[in-house]
Amino acid sequence: MSNREKELIENISEVKEEVAQACLRAGRKPEEVTVMAVSKLHAASDIEILYNAGHRCFGESYVQEALAKQEELSGLDIDWHFIGGLQSKKAKQVAGKFSAVHSVDSSKLAGLLNKKAEALDVVQNILIQVNTACEGQKCGVTEETLPALVEEIQGYKNLKLIGLMALPPFFGDPEGARPYFARLRMLSEGMEKLFGIKLPELSMGMTGDFRVAIEEGSTMIRVGTKIFGTRPGY
Ligand SMILES: *Cc1c(COP(=O)(O)O)cnc(C)c1O
Repeated sequence: MSNREKELIENISEVKEEVAQACLRAGRKPEEVTVMAVSKLHAASDIEILYNAGHRCFGESYVQEALAKQEELSGLDIDWHFIGGLQSKKAKQVAGKFSAVHSVDSSKLAGLLNKKAEALDVVQNILIQVNTACEGQKCGVTEETLPALVEEIQGYKNLKLIGLMALPPFFGDPEGARPYFARLRMLSEGMEKLFGIKLPELSMGMTGDFRVAIEEGSTMIRVGTKIFGTRPGY
């Protein structure tokens, strides 16, 4: 086994062990939490190592890079997720290529994804990225505009809304992030009641705060650094 293989397998085992402990503290089952390995800016060979060790769920943030890796690893049944900020002009490259797009943050983007999914005759799973904290439109829809976007997406035959996603501030300060995680869960429950729908996924928690996110109800944690190490170019 190469050093990189040893390192990655050890890291992901540690993450899964910590997930199990957080679940125990929260009275949840570890099967309720999916570990997404966020492989952006890391080599396709790293993905392959974890795949060979049995891991399937990977997250990518950059369209070109993600599609190139999908091409390179096309023989593998990887569960790909798109989690990065998505420009409208790239929506059509993404539709149909990922198990879920976590970063839907505008009506325009939803419409474009639906249009492309319709052309491909597929149903694209999506999550709405909610801005529970930061200013500016880079970090998701506001709580005020969330209901209108949920309602609009209900009308799209080729999109399936499976949950909400958040990227809170306070990286490295898990307790600082806790209220934002709790808020996202509350919003999700609010949307379920308001529209009579099920939103099974809460995509929240990263390297610095996934334990707290699990305590607050996360069903999918997005972990990069703790699995792969520091991203090249950072
Ligand atoms: C990069 C990224 C992550 C992973 O962050 P780490 O701190 O490295 O675990 C999670 N979510 C999103 C949206 C990201 O862009």
